[in-house]
This record gives sequence, C-alpha cells and structure tokens, in this order.
Amino acid sequence: MSTLFLRTLREDPADAEVPSHKLLVRGGYVRRAAPGVYSWLPLGKIVLENVARVVREEMNAMGGQELLLPALLPKEYYEATGRWEEYGDTLFRLQDRKGADYLLGPTHEEVFTLLVKGEYSSYKDFPVILYQIQEKFRDEARPRAGVLRGREFHMKDSYSFDIDDAGLQESYDKHRAAYIRIFDRLGLEYVIVKATSGAMGGSASEEFLAVAPTGEDTFVRSTGSDYAANVEAVATPAPAALPVEGLPEAKVHHTPDTATIRTLVDFLNGLDLGRDFSEADTLKNVLVKTRAPGSGEWELLAIGLPGDREVDFKRLEAALEPAEVALLDEADFAANPFLAKGYIGPRALLDNKVRYLVDPRVVTGTAWVTGADRTDHHVIDLVAGRDFTPDGVIDVAEVRDGDPSPDGQGTLYTARGIEIGHIFQLGRKYTDAFQVDALGPDGKPKRITMGSYGIGVSRVVASVVEQSHDDKGIVWPREIAPADVHVIGTGKGDQIEEALRIAGELEARGLRVLVDDRKGVSPGVKFTDAELLGVPTAVIIGRGLADGVVELRDRATGEREEVALDAIVERAA
Ligand code: ATP
Ligand code: MG
Ligand code: MG
Ligand code: MG
Repeated sequence: MSTLFLRTLREDPADAEVPSHKLLVRGGYVRRAAPGVYSWLPLGKIVLENVARVVREEMNAMGGQELLLPALLPKEYYEATGRWEEYGDTLFRLQDRKGADYLLGPTHEEVFTLLVKGEYSSYKDFPVILYQIQEKFRDEARPRAGVLRGREFHMKDSYSFDIDDAGLQESYDKHRAAYIRIFDRLGLEYVIVKATSGAMGGSASEEFLAVAPTGEDTFVRSTGSDYAANVEAVATPAPAALPVEGLPEAKVHHTPDTATIRTLVDFLNGLDLGRDFSEADTLKNVLVKTRAPGSGEWELLAIGLPGDREVDFKRLEAALEPAEVALLDEADFAANPFLAKGYIGPRALLDNKVRYLVDPRVVTGTAWVTGADRTDHHVIDLVAGRDFTPDGVIDVAEVRDGDPSPDGQGTLYTARGIEIGHIFQLGRKYTDAFQVDALGPDGKPKRITMGSYGIGVSRVVASVVEQSHDDKGIVWPREIAPADVHVIGTGKGDQIEEALRIAGELEARGLRVLVDDRKGVSPGVKFTDAELLGVPTAVIIGRGLADGVVELRDRATGEREEVALDAIVERAA
C-alpha cells in the first residue's frame, strides 16, 4: 500500500445516494470521469476481473466460446433491424471523418448474427454459443448510483444459434443453469423472475434480480414457494370476488404447456398472415372486430399475435373469409365496459361479446383473462354468477402484499431488486432480418433461431456491495475480493518488515495479499482503511510482535483472535 495507486476518502461523495456508490468511491475502487462513466482503479480493476473470471469459467464450462467484437459499429447493421431508430436517445451515435454514421454498441445481436451468417452454413455447424465480455454504451436517461447504472458499463453478452426450437430451449436452459452457478459463486442473494408478459411464452425470458432495497425493479415473491415474478409479468392472483381456488383444478391454468403453444403456433402459421410464428414469439392479444359482409353486427375478436410485428390486415381478412375485419374505434371502447377498463375479461367472452380466434382444439370453452396484456393466467369453463361476479375481473396492475400466490402456495409480497442478468429466447427476429439459414440434411434451408443472454459484470460488482457491507465499509466475498488477506503492519519497530515477510509466505501458498506497509500512517487510519476496503481476512502485526503474537480479524463477523506468530501463516491461509 506504500506504492499502491490508492487514496481512500473519509467523506461520502456528494452525488452518492446508495451504499455501493459511496463505498466504491470512498474505497478508491472507482472514480467518476463523466456522468455515468467511471474509471476502475487498481483494486477496482481486480474485483471487476474477478467477476469476469467467474462468468468466463462458467460460460466456458457450458460450452460457450469467447470472442471480442468491436464496440464501434456501422449504422447499417442496426438499420437493417430497425434498431438504429428504435433505440432512440439511448443510442450513442457518431460520425467518422467522412460523415459516415456509426454507433457505440449497446448490445450486439446484429453483429453476432452477421458474424455467424458469414462463417456457418450447414446444420452440422450448429448449435453454437458465442460470448464476449465488453464495454457497452447506452445513453441512459438517468445514469444512477455509480456503476449500478452507467452509460458505459461492462457486460457479458452471449448469443445462441440453433437449428430448431428444441435446440433453442436447450441453449436457454444451459444459460439458466450457468447463471445460477455464477451468481451462487458470487455469493449473491437473487431471484429468478419471469420477465415477459403476454398470453404466451411466459418462460421465454427471465431476469435475475439481486435482492436489494435500492434496486429499480419491483418483483413479487411467495411466502410459500419459489414463485417470483417481475411485477410487469405477474401471473394474476385471483381476487376474492373470483374464487378460482374453488374450481376444479383442471379449470385453472397458469401457463399454456408446450404442446398447446405448438398447436397455436401451427394454427397461426396456417392462417398465412404474412410471416412465420414460432414458439419463441411473445403473443399479445390484438383486438379487432369482424362481421359477415353486409350484416350490421360487429363482433369483437381477440387474436393472439406478436405485438411487435406488423400484421397484414388484408391477409387477415382473407383468412377469415367471408368476414370483414376492422380495427376498433373509440365508440367501441366506450360502449364496452370491459374494453373501457382495458380488459377482455371472462364475462365479455361468455357473453359472446368477444370471440377468441384460435384453434378450437386448443381453447374450446376457454376464457382468457388477458388483463392489460399482462398475464399468462387463464381460466376454463367459468360460469358467470357462479364463479365470478362482473366486478370480479382480475386486475393485474396492482399486486398487494398478502395476495394469494398464483401457484396456490403462500401469499405474495413485493420486494426490490437489481437486474444483474437477463436470458431471452429471441427466436428468429434477427435471423429473419438478415436471412440466416443453414442447409438442413434434406438440402433445404432452415432458418436459425437465437437466444440472447446478458450479465451486467460491472453492475454485479455494485450489487455485491449493496448486499454485503456495514457502516464501516465493504465486506467482499472471497471469490471476488481484491485480496484474500490484508496484512497490516502497525508500529515503529520491525512490524512492517514482519508484515512483508508474512505477506510473502502467504503469497507463496497461493494467496492474494494486500500488505499495508505504509510508514508514518497511524494504526487507526490503517484499520479504518482495512474495514472500508473489505478484504475478508486481516492479519495485524502490532505491538504484540515483541511477545510473538499477532492478531487475526474476520471482516464479515468482526471476530478477533490473538495468534502465535509462528502459527499465523497456517491460520490465515
Ligand atoms: P435495465 O432494465 O436495468 O435498464 P436492461 O434490461 O436494459 O437493464 P439488458 O438489455 O437486459 O438490460 O442488458 C443485460 C444486462 O446488462 C442487464 O441485465 C444488466 O445487468 C446490465 N445492464 C443493462 N444496462 C446497464 C447499465 N446502464 N449499467 C450497468 N449495467 C447494465
Ligand atoms: Mg435498460
Ligand atoms: Mg430491464
Ligand atoms: Mg433486461
């Protein structure tokens, strides 16, 4: 520490509100360079690399291959997928000296897709999982809390490429398992929550949230089971007015099973709506109205379609021949109390006001409770008056502490979390855009399907601190600590030489050691710094050295113990 490029601070930085921001700055781990842009100083760089190492080891173990793509990217890639526009102000755009447009990559789906298209062409080449650990750039509206939400930040991003949906599921499951190992090793308390809503594909995207009151995401958890979901995607708990619990078990479904989704996807593809649907599509209910030509009676029709895609209405009309199809207007919404509330509720369905356009084999007699497109919860064979009252329409917008868990086990409560990881079944969005096919065994081209998976490596560093600190400083888990042992020499005699000697012995045993060999710095300052820095184990060589004793301290528990000098290396190792 006598030569280490490190200056600790006694005062919290003025702009810091959350513990990780305060402590990482005060501990000299990071320094702000611009809003949302941070420098990693020597100890910070070690911690950041340690997180990256854990991520890398688990990504490699599950078959991922690491590469490094540029962050400076030509506009054309992102124009092809519409993201040059879609990203809006969040995208950092710039021009080269010739006036050509570039961007700084916020995430790399386009680039990886094109890379794979350029190299691979046969079904035998797949599956493949590629990843990188790299700086990402997003001009966040509210950069916040130091490295927790930066405008430049470190992300592990991986992308899977598979021949078919089963392959994609496998790649997704591998990532999910690897993420669990990674976050377990990092010592984080986290939950895995469903991240998408919509009637279909509830498992197609999940987020890993580190539990922390300072987090920006709200999620619900059950007291009685593992159930957890982002509030954006909560499977609707039944309010008292809709006694779902009383219904026979078979009548309540939370998520359509794979076979059901497959059947629905086939059915939609059969309609020839101008694009192919896949199981990875998130389907939303789109409301239209239909009527037989010439008759005056409009009927409402809810159709499960991906909300992010244009659907060709001419084709839809043709598919529904001889019906006429029209978009709803304001009068329709005003005339229908359910629509006015944003629902296609069970009552509207039972009153035959809304017809659900799906294969009758899938949903005969099924009423979809689509509350504001937020739920994957549906109820079968309801009888109005018996099973629910008109007021008993499920409102998913608000989950209150104590609501029953959708899985029937325990009650829900809300908590806050930090999104540290996100896994996502993309499907064919990007491979459609760039026409990425592999020649199948039958000689026919097959469209590749993709997944994309992120971990906020720099955000993880801050998340660990959010969960692991006290009023004195950081308490690093050993796996990512800047050192295993902090050897502190205090006093005016041989203590510093002895500290260096012990540090050498510990290093010889493979431990990573930070040694405080500063002269003319008081013991109090050294102890304060050690607690702020948060290395798991401290060895203090002080006045006791004359009697052959040194002190061993545990940062997490605060335990202190006098240990004989000749036993300290053994004990600290
Ligand atoms: P958020 O909801 O927090 O804005 P996101 O959903 O936009 O995150 P993704 O596109 O899913 O982020 O990126 C993958 C991961 O990168 C996230 O799960 C998160 O851990 C991390 N990440 C995203 N934005 C930032 C940021 N501005 N600073 C630090 N890490 C970030
Ligand atoms: Mg974001
Ligand atoms: Mg998010
Ligand atoms: Mg995300």
